[in-house]
Amino acid sequence: MLPGSIKRKIKAMKVYKLIFTFLIIFSSLLVSSQSVIVYDIVLKGGRVIDPETKLDAVRNVGIIQNQIVQISNEDLRGKQVIDATGLVVAPGFIDLHVHGRSNMEQEYQLHDGLTTALELEWGIEHIGKWYESRRGKALINYGASVCWPFERFRAIDKYKNDVAALYNITVKDDPKLETLINTISKSYSDTLTDVESKKMIANIRSSLGEGGLGIGVPIGYLPKTEPGEMFRVYKLAGEMNALVFSHVREPNIISIQEAIADATLARAPLHIVHINSMSLSQIQLALDMIKAADDKGFDISTELYPYTAASTALQSAMFDGEWQQRLGISYQDLQWVATGERLTKETFDKYRKEGGVVIMHMMKPEWIKTGIAAPGTIIASDGMPYAPLAHPRTAGTFCRILSKYVREEKVLDLMTAIEKMSLLPAKRLEIIAPSMKKKGRLQVGADADITVFNPETVTDKATFEKGLAFSEGVEFVIVNGVLVLKNGKTVPGVFPGQAVYGKFKK
Ligand SMILES: [Zn+2]
Repeated sequence: MLPGSIKRKIKAMKVYKLIFTFLIIFSSLLVSSQSVIVYDIVLKGGRVIDPETKLDAVRNVGIIQNQIVQISNEDLRGKQVIDATGLVVAPGFIDLHVHGRSNMEQEYQLHDGLTTALELEWGIEHIGKWYESRRGKALINYGASVCWPFERFRAIDKYKNDVAALYNITVKDDPKLETLINTISKSYSDTLTDVESKKMIANIRSSLGEGGLGIGVPIGYLPKTEPGEMFRVYKLAGEMNALVFSHVREPNIISIQEAIADATLARAPLHIVHINSMSLSQIQLALDMIKAADDKGFDISTELYPYTAASTALQSAMFDGEWQQRLGISYQDLQWVATGERLTKETFDKYRKEGGVVIMHMMKPEWIKTGIAAPGTIIASDGMPYAPLAHPRTAGTFCRILSKYVREEKVLDLMTAIEKMSLLPAKRLEIIAPSMKKKGRLQVGADADITVFNPETVTDKATFEKGLAFSEGVEFVIVNGVLVLKNGKTVPGVFPGQAVYGKFKK
């Protein structure tokens, strides 16, 4: 017989042993359940770069449905395994500034590594209906701001019929930017009455309620706008904390100061588009002013495209009056996109009457480098609607950054370049679109919007001479967990692009 205390000890030891055995079985079950997870897609062995956590290492990425759910050194099992050896796995690129509205432009953007393309400078007319019209049809994510020129246009009673005609262009046709601008431009010299002005503000509010991502304020196309009208729009933006996207009144510093003054006085968050073509030789001063406002706590940002030429409609106000003096260029610096020819006084007058897009060769390479290298600037294309000889930025902006400015000229390191093309544009939009918190990141829990490219070969192919061409070196693009580009080719018949809405959507 054993004493009772020893018996109790043995009993306790048995219980411990039992618990211990149970723990071992349980934890091995856990391990085996880990190893049997089968991901929808696995990106295997790529150089994973996340600009927020600064991860830059070889990892395997596991995706289930539309989410990144695993980033690991361990082998992962997938229904589909993509060998990403030697390739960079980055968050999908986000473009804050596009004008093309159809899949034709989106396919060029896809080959350039984009997973989200947004029309924020001009915005979109009849915005709620437009969002609906794109549902289930887009290759990559889409969205737009409220179009201030349109909201003031439809505040003026005499244009009622034109407003209805625009509906068909925006929602049903493949819209041409020139047609849109031509129609709305009838109103550019109208000064709004008090009643019309109130109506304009109400229109902007209601379009924000349809999901608009802030307010597109391309005053550069309506340079005669009264300062009072503009300030009213900024005041609304300040009250609602809605982002303003401004193409400033004229390409000069005073116009940049006007936008910054309106924004800071009204406490409106401001994004100045294409700072390169707005400030020209004064780009450093413009960047210093933006930084000064930022240092004082104002919510301000800017973007640029990596080309020395701008592009716009020849019939626009940019070519009114003393344009040669204002822009510092002449006829031979203008290139007609329909034919590629350089203009003369005669052809300028002729084409201006007909209307169409022109490329303006007006910037120096050093100015562009200054803008790209500046901390915090965002890369955005200002891509135009499709035309065979459209500005090459429409197709090549993002890969041009990776080839010319990262690989060749070393203006940026790869991490910073990716940050300017994914994380920074996502963060810029978070105050107006909280869903952007899950984009621009290569992290567990982020949306599976991913671009996989070869850093040694990636390059833009579109040129001013030959026109648009797909960029090369982007091998795979995943949008919301769906493979849309595979081995450098568009996957046919998939349309995973989702709407990006503003926070005021009802
Ligand atoms: Zn613009």
